[in-house]
Amino acid sequence: MKRCNRCGCFFIGTEEVCANCIPNDNNDKAKLSDYCSTNTVLSFEDMIDKTGVSPANLSRYLSMNEFLQYSKKVKKENDIGF
Ligand SMILES: [Zn+2]
Repeated sequence: MKRCNRCGCFFIGTEEVCANCIPNDNNDKAKLSDYCSTNTVLSFEDMIDKTGVSPANLSRYLSMNEFLQYSKKVKKENDIGF
């Protein structure tokens, strides 16, 4: 059993979120990826503001391989760790 990172429910699977939350998760990731690719300066607060993604989810996405290049940039520019 795993616990969904978005809604907190328990589910069986290998994903970080349950089947109900996968579409929302993908939607958030698309918004984040869009923000990261169109902004030269990446501010963590701005990211939350512009994408509407929650700080917890944002930290989770930034720890994923697909956002590695952006998370390095955010860490450097915001001097924060996840
Ligand atoms: Zn869920």
